[in-house]
Amino acid sequence: MRLTDKVAFVTGAASGLGKAIAMRYAREGAAVAIADMDPDAATAAAKDIETAGGRAVGLACDVTDEGQVDAAVAATVARFGGVDVLVSNAGIQIIHPVEEFSFAEWKRMLAIHLDGAFLTTRACIRHMYASGRGGSVIYMGSVHSKEASLLKSPYVTAKHGLIGLAKTIAKEGAKHNVRANVICPGFVRTPLVDRQIPEQAAKLGISEDEVVKKVMLKDTVDGEFTTVDDVAEVALLFAAFPTNALTGQSLIVSHGWSMQ
Ligand code: NAD
Repeated sequence: MRLTDKVAFVTGAASGLGKAIAMRYAREGAAVAIADMDPDAATAAAKDIETAGGRAVGLACDVTDEGQVDAAVAATVARFGGVDVLVSNAGIQIIHPVEEFSFAEWKRMLAIHLDGAFLTTRACIRHMYASGRGGSVIYMGSVHSKEASLLKSPYVTAKHGLIGLAKTIAKEGAKHNVRANVICPGFVRTPLVDRQIPEQAAKLGISEDEVVKKVMLKDTVDGEFTTVDDVAEVALLFAAFPTNALTGQSLIVSHGWSMQ
């Protein structure tokens, strides 16, 4: 049990990577707030954790809304007595060539990925600093924090931006024993990716099988998808690491797609 007595606030935790991380943290002894804009799915994910013997609460929270983020973090602190780990994970994907993006789509992508990271960080580190317990801030980046792909201009821009935010929080947070790091996964079969396969096939004029083999997994060392469990393992490493030796870093977990 590597997270005994810790409290984690995980955004976008009703599905995919966030849900797997929340469940892994709970198995390691943490109390977990499942913060998601889908309140029913958040409640269901929290119930799954409680059924398995863990502690969790589902909270309705749109990470782009300052009031909702502050309220959800306050509710977590009131319920579990603090917050030690933030996983800023909520995200969506919208794909177009840059000349076809509407300004509204561009702003929505940056709002979810970057405003959401800022708002959740600010709310959580205020408690981490005040408590004197320190903490771990973890951003869900992507291989697209390091590399670019066709059709993904706002996603690549936002995911690169998270590395800058993590480095800054690493410097500012050090004297409070708050660390900040970025996880950079390759493609993982979650609803976000399952929706993208037919969309990419249509936009690139290739088959869905070709999207998987020639776009998503082409540069991996073994043609394999990364799994939610692979990513949860890295999220556990960053959450449980005990000192400032591991801060300001970005770790790629992608079957070797990117080796930067
Ligand atoms: P997913 O679609 O399975 O889950 C995303 C969750 O985020 C959903 O529960 C959704 O309700 C929630 N969400 C969306 N907008 C929100 C908002 N404004 N406020 C609160 N919650 C919101 O997707 P996933 O694949 O698990 O993606 C999670 C994160 O991982 C994203 O940041 C994504 O960019 C990143 N990522 C995914 C992959 C992949 O291949 N799946 C790879 C690298 C990075």
